[in-house]
Amino acid sequence: MVSVAEAIRQILEQIPRLGKERLNILNSAGRVLAEDIIAPRNIPPWDNSAMDGYAVRWLDIQTASAGRPFLLKVLADLPAGKVFSGRLSPGGAVRIMTGAPLPRGADTVVQAEDTEKAGEWVKIFAATKKGKNIRRAGEDVKAEERVLDEGMVLQPAHIGMLASIKRSFVSVYQRPRVAILSTGDELLEIDEPWEEGKIINSNSYALAAQVRECGGIPLQLGIAKDRREDLLAKIQQGLQADILVTSGGVSVGDYDLVKAMLRELGKMNFWKVAMRPGQPLAFGVISGKPLFGLPGNPVSSMVSFEQFVRPSILKMAGHRKLFRPPLRAVLRGDIEKKGGLIHFIRCRLSIEGEKIYASTTGDQGSGILSSMVKAQGLLVLPADQTLARGGEEVTVIPLDPTLFHSDTPTYLSWSGARRKNCCFGGRFKV
Ligand code: AMP
Ligand code: MG
Repeated sequence: MVSVAEAIRQILEQIPRLGKERLNILNSAGRVLAEDIIAPRNIPPWDNSAMDGYAVRWLDIQTASAGRPFLLKVLADLPAGKVFSGRLSPGGAVRIMTGAPLPRGADTVVQAEDTEKAGEWVKIFAATKKGKNIRRAGEDVKAEERVLDEGMVLQPAHIGMLASIKRSFVSVYQRPRVAILSTGDELLEIDEPWEEGKIINSNSYALAAQVRECGGIPLQLGIAKDRREDLLAKIQQGLQADILVTSGGVSVGDYDLVKAMLRELGKMNFWKVAMRPGQPLAFGVISGKPLFGLPGNPVSSMVSFEQFVRPSILKMAGHRKLFRPPLRAVLRGDIEKKGGLIHFIRCRLSIEGEKIYASTTGDQGSGILSSMVKAQGLLVLPADQTLARGGEEVTVIPLDPTLFHSDTPTYLSWSGARRKNCCFGGRFKV
């Protein structure tokens, strides 16, 4: 039996990063960038106006004031997207819209509010600082600058940046294809008629959703009966994918054939991990593919997936940060356990003021799928700990991605110390 930390170490050591693929940038959101991105030119590419107003020579307006406006001749009207082909001559002005390229010869833009059109002339009522209201070429991004780094997880702003430098395709790491195989004679598919003594294959669905949640592509292989030929054929099929995940058949029951089959197929790294739920867990690399033999109990398979398969999928997909950020929470109620195994206890989380409170979801049996439904996190009790008392701080792995979301924009009502220290939202009405 290996510890959870040792199991993670051994697993990740053998997980490769997948190859690259080129994708349209719109399809690359959430993917890991597989190349550095260099800007081919300045953004903005040329000096342009930051305001609607008049492009002028500063020398011509430097002492203008409301009491003594200056008159300039309007030479042209320049909407955004148009270029003034001439050169601004002394005493002239070009009416300019935000974003239009600054005419040659102009060095300042006077905002429209400080001007008044008078036929072919414009009155300038205020002296503006030299160079005012101009966005400089390259002020956002300089030509040859690295705008995105290999390894970044692409977010909407990154996609916008790619578009702004005219990159419509980008190289990202491939998404791992994860084959999912449920094993056991007792299993029925979701659309088969009820049969006495049978249970529905729910693991394939929960696991597929977990694969998807972390960016993998689930491939459902269905159910393998507890028979050698069936099992072998489906395992071979699963080994065509990037990762094979089986559920069931790895504990010590008479029909736990998966274990025997894997022994024949190759050398497994380990068969048991010192954790609850999920103690029976097989891992090995077979025909070059990582294979996870998860236990059959629904909670065990999900919790084991979370600990071991999720970081593996993320690593394959090019991610560098493989683990969810743990939280510190205040425990409500005592928890007793035996020493020896790490326990992952399903818990509810509530945010009160600036503290997070954790309480167990009740029955922690590994077949109680409703305990996973209620859980917003997994409370981690170390192997050597036998008692956690109410009021103690405990470590929790959050599972609910909306945990810190709120039904009101709470930050708008924060003030003073709370604004300074804010780390979690409370529930305040605006
Ligand atoms: P096993 O690890 O094969 O001994 O399975 C343990 C228990 O997990 C079984 O008795 C079933 O109740 C449950 N189980 C196994 N496979 C599945 C599955 N695919 N979906 C739902 N429950 C399962
Ligand atoms: Mg079984």
